[in-house]
Amino acid sequence: MPSGGPIGVMGGSFDPIHVGHLLAASEVADRLELSAVIFVPAGQPWQKSRRELAAAEDRYAMTVIATAGDPRFSVSRLEIDRPGPSYTIDTLHMLAETLASSTLYFITGADALAGIETWYRYEEIVELAHLVGVSRPGHALPNDQPVAASATFVDIPGLAVSATDIRERIAAHRSIRYLVPTAVESYIYKHELYREAE
Ligand code: ATP
Ligand code: MG
Repeated sequence: MPSGGPIGVMGGSFDPIHVGHLLAASEVADRLELSAVIFVPAGQPWQKSRRELAAAEDRYAMTVIATAGDPRFSVSRLEIDRPGPSYTIDTLHMLAETLASSTLYFITGADALAGIETWYRYEEIVELAHLVGVSRPGHALPNDQPVAASATFVDIPGLAVSATDIRERIAAHRSIRYLVPTAVESYIYKHELYREAE
């Protein structure tokens, strides 16, 4: 795991990881001069319990494959190895302990940032990490919410890509080419993921 220097933390269900996630992490790393970005696939997202996610190991493997070629990127098993629901605050506490000499930047898309004030122990989250909100097509950055006071906004080239749309495309036998890295696309077909409509 990287240490020293400012470090980005990119949480998500990554079901599957796609080019929107990769571009967001890369742009924020460039703009805020981060030395690394750690992707943290969620174990059991507490806000998404209605839909079944792909197996944690598959989401982890796809995240590793997608990020393998970028020396700034790494993937943490912290949340998928922790039993019970995934809370960002627990993850940030563990990362802050391991990476004591680094400042943490928690990276979210505009949609996630707009809801972050409802997250479990939100006040502590903003004490442990700087929040970074990246632009996302169809979602306004929350300029008028209290979170705006402490967050840094980063405008990135808009990619109207979502994991939901990717899963729907696969179930409908439509192409996902260029929406995910080629190796992730191959992994999805090889392991027959997302074949059933939700
Ligand atoms: P789902 O449709 O299943 O919710 P998603 O595409 O939103 O999937 P998540 O794993 O929920 O992906 O998102 C992880 C993080 O990445 C969130 O902070 C989200 O806002 C951000 N993100 C996802 N897609 C994009 C995108 N196209 N542009 C910018 N940020 C994005
Ligand atoms: Mg999402």
